[in-house]
Amino acid sequence: MIMDGLGSNCTEDKELVSTWSKLVPLKVSVLAWRLWQNRIPTKDSLIKRGILEESQSFCPYFCGKEESEEHIFFECLIALVTWSEIIRWLNFSYVSHNSAMWSFLHFAGLCSGDIVMKERFSVIWFGYIWTMWRRGNEENFKSSEGHTEGNSVSYLEDIQLTSWKWLKSKVIGFNHALIQWNLNPKECLGWRS
Ligand SMILES: [Zn+2]
Repeated sequence: MIMDGLGSNCTEDKELVSTWSKLVPLKVSVLAWRLWQNRIPTKDSLIKRGILEESQSFCPYFCGKEESEEHIFFECLIALVTWSEIIRWLNFSYVSHNSAMWSFLHFAGLCSGDIVMKERFSVIWFGYIWTMWRRGNEENFKSSEGHTEGNSVSYLEDIQLTSWKWLKSKVIGFNHALIQWNLNPKECLGWRS
């Protein structure tokens, strides 16, 4: 891992967060901030704090692994598949996906535009972490309550819709229809590559 989170000497990273997260809801900035500091209340940390028992450590997707930050966002099959769908959607060949801060910086760095463009583009990354966190919690709730019905919206569709809503509500002039966003996100952002 190149960067695991925000150390006290990463002032530049902290500035990045506070500058770039203003297009997403506060709860999403908080999630990203905690993720970068390895302070997400996943089951492994709740077990360490005595809030959950060892027997409750399972990943909500029943892959057999323990639910941890790295697992939910970067290692579980659902995270890997969703991330590769995002890469395909954006027409990239590869985007690093091995730790929270590194994945964010690498993702934002792919945008060749100015800081405003990078900020808008990075909304997709925030959409990814928000969707993975929210849907993982939904899965946990379903299994604890014995529900079997699933959310029929795919993770990618969820991320596309979420990022589109945030951009539409915060960026003046972003008047694209969802279908346009889904078909050509770079064009909607005004990105000329
Ligand atoms: Zn898993």
